[in-house]
Amino acid sequence: MVAKPLAETPMPVARPSRAEAEAAVRTLLRWAGDDPAREGLLDTPARVVRSYEEFFAGYAVDPVAVLERTFAETEGYDEIVLLKDIRLESYCEHHMVPIIGRAHVAYLPSNRVVGISKLARVVQAYAKRLQIQEKLTAQIANTIEAVLQPRGVGVVIESEHQCMTTRGVHQHGASMVTSRMLGVFRDDANTRRELMALIGKS
Ligand SMILES: [Zn+2]
Repeated sequence: MVAKPLAETPMPVARPSRAEAEAAVRTLLRWAGDDPAREGLLDTPARVVRSYEEFFAGYAVDPVAVLERTFAETEGYDEIVLLKDIRLESYCEHHMVPIIGRAHVAYLPSNRVVGISKLARVVQAYAKRLQIQEKLTAQIANTIEAVLQPRGVGVVIESEHQCMTTRGVHQHGASMVTSRMLGVFRDDANTRRELMALIGKS
């Protein structure tokens, strides 16, 4: 199966200034019912904006560039490469609250492999943006497919959405699992079963 074109999340065209962003936080503090001028909240807008720089650092990372340095000397290794239990911190694009969980990323190399930490960096590049889990899962898999051109890619994400656990239906402990299987992981049930067994799900 041919990967779809990469669905990049574009940077906003005109980025507001830091002062404008801090003023927006003061507005939200007033909206919540508090007084942004009281001592405990004076530095909060600046802190929130700095936190946003970390939460949304992924917009400044090009996931394709992360994967571009590959190694061809693999001694013919052609079995599954799996990085399990990658810590996932993302942000729900509907409520702007955290999605916390784990990602498992696997591929079946054709002739090139990539440094294993790069798989985690691709997860971070897409996670540190406003996301829905389905899109996040697909973006990670599609990018690995497009850049490494392996025989297969499998991405499984399990996470807890704070928009569901701390508000709305308050479903604490409910986790959402998404997966995207490409190539042999999609076409061959045995290979997919092997991957799910390695991840610890059968
Ligand atoms: Zn949400």
